[in-house]
Amino acid sequence: MTLTEEFDQSLLPGELILLESAKLFGATNISPNAKQWEYTRKFPIDELRQAIQRGFGSIELPQIFGGPGFSFGTKMRIAEELSKFDLAFTFALIQHHNALVRVAELSPSDHSRELIASMLTGDLIGCTAMSEPEAGSDFSSLKTVAKKVAGGWILNGKKGWITNATDANVCLTYAQTDTSLGSKGIACFVVLGDKEGFIRQAGYELHGAHAAGVGGYGLVDYFVPDALVLYAPGLAFKTALQGVNRARIHVTAMNAGMLESSLSIATQYGENRRAFGKSILEFQGLAWSLANVATSLEAMRSLAYRGARQIMRGEDALDSAAIAKKFGNEQTLSGVAACMQAMGANGLRAEYPLARHLAAAKLLSYTDGTVEMMNERISGAVKKRYVL
Ligand SMILES: Cc1cc2nc3c(=O)[nH]c(=O)nc-3n(C[C@H](O)[C@H](O)[C@H](O)COP(=O)(O)OP(=O)(O)OC[C@H]3O[C@@H](n4cnc5c(N)ncnc54)[C@H](O)[C@@H]3O)c2cc1C
Repeated sequence: MTLTEEFDQSLLPGELILLESAKLFGATNISPNAKQWEYTRKFPIDELRQAIQRGFGSIELPQIFGGPGFSFGTKMRIAEELSKFDLAFTFALIQHHNALVRVAELSPSDHSRELIASMLTGDLIGCTAMSEPEAGSDFSSLKTVAKKVAGGWILNGKKGWITNATDANVCLTYAQTDTSLGSKGIACFVVLGDKEGFIRQAGYELHGAHAAGVGGYGLVDYFVPDALVLYAPGLAFKTALQGVNRARIHVTAMNAGMLESSLSIATQYGENRRAFGKSILEFQGLAWSLANVATSLEAMRSLAYRGARQIMRGEDALDSAAIAKKFGNEQTLSGVAACMQAMGANGLRAEYPLARHLAAAKLLSYTDGTVEMMNERISGAVKKRYVL
């Protein structure tokens, strides 16, 4: 039994049905289009809405809000399967999903119910905006400010490097309410893209990942009513860090999806490609290189699935998430490159997804904490375990 088959045994029947439906959606709706999204620099809003309407954008949303209330493990596995076809699309979908689940944490009101209903159909797309042009890893140094006024808050500032920002209309925006409090002064607000004071930027021109709609927006005297304060000062930073641990686990699973896609394509290609009178897979150097990739893939999955089990049991996954993410980032970058190398120049061709996977593996080395920030976390844990 494979690690994945073993993990899937822990999923409920309804969760498995959604997972199978996601695999089919990936093969029929993402795979044939992903190359085009990249080359036309297109944010695939129609396909994203289709994915949302099939339930892949509300996996963890509790039933009381109209979702199925499925497990984190189901979300992680769906993200892993869809990433085999295109990471950028999957990343955009999961960002929407996570924003929706958070919006459901607002105090109940007609407004919050309307937002949830529109996000469930994909009429409104969500994003989460912590980063700014001048603040990434050092999230607590963000410059967007929120000033209390009667009935709400006035926000001013700029957000940058935000997935879905090109099309999102429900933007979970982190802002500083009191610089003297540092991270404890940060709050999170639901900002609506169609209101006065919201200035959307054009999407970034990137190498890879156009289907993720990465961009930014400015806020000029933007008013947020009290009812749309998602996390109050003191709570927002803590909640963001908790969410990041979960993200680091499903990012590792997404890396595993891309690496498996690359390994299977390179192996099939190598079996049929002949040089010096034999299949290139018969050259030990090449076969061993792919064996190394397979070993990394197995280890990466073990780390991701272990982290998912910890999260589903409500355990602390701070250190294990950092280890999984670092390992996944590094091994996917080198592993996808090794698979491309095994295919010779053909590995570069757009008819194969490997070059896209390589750019996406780099992308995942920045999001949800860079490899260096993972090293900071891991080295702190090592010191705590062996010295203090
Ligand atoms: C495609 C894409 C999508 C993204 N989507 C989102 C999103 O939806 N929402 C959002 O909020 N953000 C998003 N981000 C932003 C992402 O979270 C940041 O890129 C990340 O936090 C790193 O910040 P930075 O790029 O500004 O790098 P910086 O923080 O400027 O870091 C630059 C370099 O310095 C290193 N460094 C920084 N501090 C330390 C340290 N203490 N020790 C050692 N090295 C250090 C970093 O590791 C990095 O190598 C996205 C990024 C990308 C690329």
